[in-house]
Amino acid sequence: MTVKHSSKRKWMRRAALATGLLVTYPFILLGIEYSASKWSPKITTKTELQQVIDKRKEKLGIEEHIEGVLRPETIGMSGTSINSGMKKIYVGGDLATQIVVDHELYHNHKRDNEVSQIDTIKERLETIYLEEPCARIYSLLRIRL
Ligand SMILES: [Zn+2]
Repeated sequence: MTVKHSSKRKWMRRAALATGLLVTYPFILLGIEYSASKWSPKITTKTELQQVIDKRKEKLGIEEHIEGVLRPETIGMSGTSINSGMKKIYVGGDLATQIVVDHELYHNHKRDNEVSQIDTIKERLETIYLEEPCARIYSLLRIRL
């Protein structure tokens, strides 16, 4: 009886640990990527940013022009300009690093030309649990998922 009870408790602990990891893995990856960004080569000029984008987009097979925008505030994002239709990557502050450019290039590679809006809970969960972790794994390990 005691053995059975103990194994049930062990199973419950493992299930709780697995559930905890499943819920928190995007945030664990975020922390690892943010830490790695501290050691990633910094980008200090717009020219340097454009060179990094042009060189690294080739690894993902991206042929179209992506304009780099260096901002004074801490930022790392990408998107397509509604006015010009041009793809842009914005980095700045602590996030003006090569690893963040790789992260944003991966988003560009995956999203193609689709204009994404995150409206529903399903879309939010997909972003948190699929899109962002995939971009982080690429920026950290160069593995395309
Ligand atoms: Zn992202």
